[in-house]
Amino acid sequence: MVILYTGDGKGKTTAALGLALRAVGRGMKVLMIQFIKEEGSSGEHFSSARLHPEFELIATGKGFVGMTGDTHPFEEHKKAAEEGLELARERMLSGEYDVVILDEVCNAVNLGLLKLEDVVELIDAKPDKVHLVLTGRDANKELIDRADLVTEMRKVKHPFEKGRWARIGIDI
Ligand code: ATP
Ligand code: MG
Repeated sequence: MVILYTGDGKGKTTAALGLALRAVGRGMKVLMIQFIKEEGSSGEHFSSARLHPEFELIATGKGFVGMTGDTHPFEEHKKAAEEGLELARERMLSGEYDVVILDEVCNAVNLGLLKLEDVVELIDAKPDKVHLVLTGRDANKELIDRADLVTEMRKVKHPFEKGRWARIGIDI
């Protein structure tokens, strides 16, 4: 299966992590590669160690791109994302994993860190036995077309609108 979680509502990464938890319970081996997010920036980077080696999480990013506090040149973000995709490709083809999750991959494409065609190529190279999960806002039509299951998280309400920033354990 190719599964895609997109939309402007909260829950895309959380859904992918929930899927990972379920798959591990069934004896499956799961790899999550995160784009944009940097190591240690979210709770799952610490809980993943507890599910090791059945669950592996690698955050390949350098943090928010082009926002206040971003000290990295665009090229550095791009290089990190490209290396992340290459790693994902190698691991997906290794035969070692049942589920491979590319978290925030749609955002990496939308920000111009990854070429859409490279992500499409990776999907097309997916071995039959591997389930591939993609997440991120504003998924391109090409990705939607290739997915077997697409869920769009739609924002009904988010506390961000009332000026509430990310809460530890809930958002990060
Ligand atoms: P989560 O990681 O909580 O499942 P997500 O993967 O659906 O969220 P992203 O677009 O990856 O959402 O953004 C990650 C961060 O942005 C999280 O801290 C999340 O709470 C927050 N967020 C998600 N949706 C919204 C929204 N509509 N408005 C403001 N912040 C949001
Ligand atoms: Mg997310």
